[in-house]
Amino acid sequence: MDDLYRELILDHYQHPHNHGEIPGADISVEDSNPLCGDKIRIDLKLQGDTVVDVKFNGKGCAISQASASMLTDEIIGKTLDEIKTLDKQFVLEMLGIPLGPSRIKCALLPLKVIKVGVYGVGANPDEDEDES
Ligand code: ZN
Repeated sequence: MDDLYRELILDHYQHPHNHGEIPGADISVEDSNPLCGDKIRIDLKLQGDTVVDVKFNGKGCAISQASASMLTDEIIGKTLDEIKTLDKQFVLEMLGIPLGPSRIKCALLPLKVIKVGVYGVGANPDEDEDES
């Protein structure tokens, strides 16, 4: 375990970036992880194909909230196509610490929510339960 990354995660958890809501957001999606009780709602503001603003709201464990905070930092300025290329690996590298299977669901919840929004509700080709 890398203390530096653990501190980074705690810092994002305690002082989340891009926290809040966007009135009149172009995309607004929320989902939860019933196994852990995490909830994430993401609002995206688009200009053409590019994300110009993003806010998240949620509650749950440190991993899910830190992942949302970091991920929202990452996607500002990206196009929808660029966001579609982000995957599980990207999130795990972003968090930087090894996670067990149940924690991985927490870590991936924000990306899942964002992708549902980007692809349109109910059409997420990356939806995978447990491929390990
Ligand atoms: Zn969790």
